[in-house]
Amino acid sequence: MIENNKVVTLNYKLTEAGNSELIEETYGSEPLSFIYGIGAMLPQFEANLTNLKNNDKFNFVIKAVDAYGDIDESAITEIPLNAFSSDGKIDEEIIQIGKTLPMQDKDGNQFEGIIVDINDDSVVMDFNHPLAGIDLNFEGEIVDVRDATEEELDHGHIHGAHHHQNNDEDHECTNCGHHH
Ligand SMILES: [Zn+2]
Repeated sequence: MIENNKVVTLNYKLTEAGNSELIEETYGSEPLSFIYGIGAMLPQFEANLTNLKNNDKFNFVIKAVDAYGDIDESAITEIPLNAFSSDGKIDEEIIQIGKTLPMQDKDGNQFEGIIVDINDDSVVMDFNHPLAGIDLNFEGEIVDVRDATEEELDHGHIHGAHHHQNNDEDHECTNCGHHH
């Protein structure tokens, strides 16, 4: 049964609640595995899986406010076009509506923004999380539930079957580069 410190493996299809537009899914690729109860996933995502067992199905909605938040209008800002120029030239390949660009503020913090509009001398960028303002509908099934190993709990992530390592006292974790 799913409870704290279990490794949960599941398949899911994530759609926007209400219009069923597919956002992402694990079907057809690797299922999702994570340690339950250590804050690896959205709290509401974990809460909806409590006490489920192997082969159980789920279908629930997480409101935007409990997921990636509502859209923050102040995170949509106009940036002068010349901020994108290097050597006085602007790379037109980069400046296109729908492009995601890494940006940096004066303190060196990194943000990803998406170009939503282009004016004569400025670009409008949206720095909201791509899933902000969206109610998320998760539908899927539990594929496996097992106890997390002490090492996994120590590292705070799972060590997948494909990345088996030796049990030497002193080794570097191939998953995280952790040294023990
Ligand atoms: Zn590790």
